[in-house]
Amino acid sequence: MKKTVKDMAVDDRRVLVRNDFNVPIDGGRVADDTRMRAALPTLRYLIERGARVVCCSHLGRPGGKVVDALRMDPVADRLSELLDMKVAKVDDCVGIAVEKARQDVGPGQILMLENTRFHPEEKKNESAFAASLAMGMDLFVNDAFGAAHRAHASTEGVARHLPAAAGLLMDAELTALSRFRENPARPLAAVFGGAKISDKIDLVERFLEKAEVLMIGGAMANTFFKAMGREVGDSLVESDGLEAARKILDKAGDRLMLPVDVVVAKDPDQADGRRVSAPDGVKSGERILDIGPKTIERFGDRLRQCRAVIWNGPMGLFEKPPFDRGTNAMAVTLAELDADTCVGGGDSAAAVNRAGMAERMSHVSTGGGAFLEFMAGQTLPCVAALANK
Ligand code: ADP
Ligand code: MG
Repeated sequence: MKKTVKDMAVDDRRVLVRNDFNVPIDGGRVADDTRMRAALPTLRYLIERGARVVCCSHLGRPGGKVVDALRMDPVADRLSELLDMKVAKVDDCVGIAVEKARQDVGPGQILMLENTRFHPEEKKNESAFAASLAMGMDLFVNDAFGAAHRAHASTEGVARHLPAAAGLLMDAELTALSRFRENPARPLAAVFGGAKISDKIDLVERFLEKAEVLMIGGAMANTFFKAMGREVGDSLVESDGLEAARKILDKAGDRLMLPVDVVVAKDPDQADGRRVSAPDGVKSGERILDIGPKTIERFGDRLRQCRAVIWNGPMGLFEKPPFDRGTNAMAVTLAELDADTCVGGGDSAAAVNRAGMAERMSHVSTGGGAFLEFMAGQTLPCVAALANK
């Protein structure tokens, strides 16, 4: 168990918080503040107790230099709105001007630092840079679960220079995901989809061992169909994943459920030309873009017999309706289950949000890569760096 912010004295202390404020920016405004809302409990906890809060995050991929479009100003503005208080912001994350601004943070106030990835030392996890981030602070609180799989200076390095505890979001993620990983209710179903199998092979293999049922849809299923020698036309297939698919097919036996029908079209932009096909009836020139209605029903029936479900990876090209039907149906099925339900992955969480079902899941992870690695059984370096209880 990791220490959390609740195990630390925070009153009047200078607390450095690492958030995952890597949010989409559009026209100088935050386009989706889901991750920011998830960070509010920790920030509120700290300011209500009179901590002097300095928060930081990376944003996008500036490549170790200043990129004006990736400054944190829109994030600071949005945070001011969400907390209904002024969040001050500085134009760097280390240096003399920053030192000065940090000194001036009063009890219950928040200062936001500039994008940590404007400095190449961030991703290199340079100790001197981490020490500068820690300078003058009393405590480090890591609430950036979504960035916990990468050992960078502001996520891992800084924990070597300050007492380090998990924030409330980090703690909620670790608690929920550990439950699904270590001690899930039974029967357990694992539902996988999305684009590639190679990103997720460790996760699929782990749940192949653990789960009573494994369901595979999305483009991932195409790779399985191809591995079974079926015609998949112009469907998205991962040639590098065929070997992995064969291995899983061998091992899983009748615990593996693949689509029994699929929605195909020649062109995803011409949805009128789509049809439902048997998985072995796909013609050359056609693309599999969603699971079919029979599959939705079969997957749903089996899921209704389960007590826990983890889901990663959309069932189809959900960004382009009507190819979002399988994904939306999966979201509704999980929402209506009398079971412990967990959704993770950047696109999967977005799909569940779009379907309006996020509130009805037991847990929706804010992690993409961090979720995949944690659930596959790996120790995340930034979690390892936090103090134990
Ligand atoms: P996550 O981010 O939740 O881990 P992935 O990144 O693995 O999920 O996969 C999401 C992507 O997979 C989406 O962009 C979606 O459009 C795509 N996808 C899923 N099924 C198909 C399909 N049949 N054809 C093309 N793209 C697909
Ligand atoms: Mg994705």
